[in-house]
Amino acid sequence: MNTVFWFRRDLRLFNNHALYHAIENGCKDAIFFITEQQWQRHSVASIQIDLLKRRLNFLGQLLADNGITLHIIEAGDYDGCVQQLSEFCQRHSVTQLFANKEYEINEVGRDNAFLHHADELKISVTLCDGDVVAPPGTVLNQSGEMFKVFTPFKNAWLKQYQDTHFYFHAPPTMFSPIPWQGSGLLTGDDSSHKWPVDDASLSQICARFISDKLLSYKDQRDIPSIKGTSGLSPYLALGIVSVHQLITLVQQQYVDVLSSSKSNLFTWVNELVWREFYRHLIVAYPKLNKYNNFNEKYDPVKWRTNEADFIAWCEGKTGYPLVDAAMRQLIQTGWMHNRLRMVVASFLTKHLLIDWRKGERFFMQHLIDGDLASNNGGWQWAASTGCDAQPYFRIFNPITQSERFDPNGHFIRKYIPELENVPNKQIHFPHQYLAKSGKAKAVYWPAIVDHKTARLRALDAFKV
Ligand code: FAD
Repeated sequence: MNTVFWFRRDLRLFNNHALYHAIENGCKDAIFFITEQQWQRHSVASIQIDLLKRRLNFLGQLLADNGITLHIIEAGDYDGCVQQLSEFCQRHSVTQLFANKEYEINEVGRDNAFLHHADELKISVTLCDGDVVAPPGTVLNQSGEMFKVFTPFKNAWLKQYQDTHFYFHAPPTMFSPIPWQGSGLLTGDDSSHKWPVDDASLSQICARFISDKLLSYKDQRDIPSIKGTSGLSPYLALGIVSVHQLITLVQQQYVDVLSSSKSNLFTWVNELVWREFYRHLIVAYPKLNKYNNFNEKYDPVKWRTNEADFIAWCEGKTGYPLVDAAMRQLIQTGWMHNRLRMVVASFLTKHLLIDWRKGERFFMQHLIDGDLASNNGGWQWAASTGCDAQPYFRIFNPITQSERFDPNGHFIRKYIPELENVPNKQIHFPHQYLAKSGKAKAVYWPAIVDHKTARLRALDAFKV
């Protein structure tokens, strides 16, 4: 063996830049490291690990059917990974290694450590930018710096996309689809079983979303009771599909989708660009990887340490139905609708005045799509500490959010069946109604904070 491909969060065969180069160079072996201890340190949710293992089982068989052996090796953490990889390369006389870059600092540290060994072992290492369309550091303002506001970033990103079309690799034609029985070497807890991992199902999910939902995305994406968004985030988080692949698919159906960033159709692509923005940010500002505020102005904010309130939030027992239903969606399914992520993050950081880092970690521990850059970006946006974030004085009112985005209480009733019989008008804050019917305590939790008081407390805390 001379050439090896190292899989990380790029578990796909199509539009996989580094894999393409590896195959061009005669690659017959691929490798993946199971790093349970590292995942634990990074709070990776067990449902995401399960999805990853199921996908690896699929990939292993697909690769084998196409003449490539996937070696899955237990390495513990990233130090173990570097050591095992060096030994593997020596054992198998590897002379070339290909991989796609990961941008988080621990991953960069791991790669730098391996590069050092590779130098000694005379292995040529090629790292590609496979996780993003535009490599970090290539979309810059006129002063050559990273944008601090999303819209000009997006405009520059779009211009670059249209001018260069970036570098798009044709899929390696050697891969033939396989009938997939859903078995394999790795066993997980099967918690992700509702998310298919084979390419045939994934192509269908992408194609259906683009043909059936894209046009209505702008109007429906904020309604949690409707399946109006793509649900592709778990696949993007593990690199099972790529942003480039998705934009290309959209363009096949809507040739001009990128020509006006103000069109309804562009709204979805806009979200994909937010993903790119947050990735560029963690590279331009490494402090984000260490959970520092982007905006240091808010470093002096005095967060409350109230474990009881935090637990009530985690368990969906705040007494605000939309917040509670959202948290139950997260716990029960491993996923949460974007509108609700904003609502619950705002509630934790503003109403409860609890540090965004606690919510950020809790999300990572439970999300199937947990991803440092997007999660950090989303949390710091909601907490107003982030780059191009929500201003601190714009505090979501969880009751009006509920009236606006779940007007008939469909979503609330799905996750809080205790409120099934509460009328639509009262379901958004049912306490008075329940008290009158004499059931308040038995049926639902009392509100842990009063909206108006909590709002004033947050405004005060942020005036630092
Ligand atoms: P769609 O609406 O179909 O969007 C398509 C894709 O665009 C998504 O899959 C995602 O990759 C990307 N995207 C959409 N919205 C955003 C956004 N606001 N920021 C960055 N990328 C976006 N997303 C994650 O993938 N992982 C996280 O850990 C994560 N944590 C978040 C935490 C908070 C507090 C907030 C407010 C948002 C977070 N998001 C995160 C972003 C967003 O909520 C999810 O990407 C989205 O809900 C996934 O559903 P979807 O695939 O149906 O999205």
